[in-house]
Amino acid sequence: MKNIIFIAPPAAGKGTQSSLLIDKYGYEHISTGDILREEIMCGTDLGKSVKNIIDNGLLVSDDIMIEIIKNKLESIHGKPFILDGFPRTLDQAKSLTMMLDSLNVDNTIAINLELNEEDAMKRALGRLTCSTCGRSYNKYIQTLKPSVDNVCDYCGEKLIERSDDNETSFKKRYDSFLTNTLPIVKYYESINLLVNVDVNRDSLVIFKDIME
Ligand code: AMP
Repeated sequence: MKNIIFIAPPAAGKGTQSSLLIDKYGYEHISTGDILREEIMCGTDLGKSVKNIIDNGLLVSDDIMIEIIKNKLESIHGKPFILDGFPRTLDQAKSLTMMLDSLNVDNTIAINLELNEEDAMKRALGRLTCSTCGRSYNKYIQTLKPSVDNVCDYCGEKLIERSDDNETSFKKRYDSFLTNTLPIVKYYESINLLVNVDVNRDSLVIFKDIME
């Protein structure tokens, strides 16, 4: 089973695809956004120091993120993983390559979820996330609506909107994606690890492509 690195603009569906892959294959899910939101919810020093950065659509420093991922990768002891939200800068990508080499982890691919700005914004502004299991829904996209308004289909818990899913924060996150994250696509292409997937389609069709 290949380890997966997702590269995507905000709200492109990396959380949704990660959930589908985890249900089918039992991957370890490493979502840096979830890890940081958990720190904020628990009121830790790290959480307090990153809350404003996240709410303003900016990036947390490379040093902090690399330390988080290093600890996480060591803790899963070689189990297959999905990286969802890391790397987001070229320095993070290069550090990740070194970390994986030192842990003797190969068999990794980078999947680039391609989506234009307009569609990404529509998804961000309609996104609802389960407060318990983290599954994603969308109130504006028919195929991604929950069966019952504001309730998770999977665990029956309440769906919430993320505090950074507003238009101002989205625009900053999208700009940051263009500036910081797109060079990563070229990096993975240059080391022959890149696969492109068009995500302006039904999530199950995308999932089939990813499985292939
Ligand atoms: P996400 O849930 O992946 O959209 O991440 C939410 C927010 O957490 C981002 O907008 C960033 O502020 C922060 N974040 C998550 N992952 C990273 C990362 N690899 N580098 C820097 N900031 C990050």
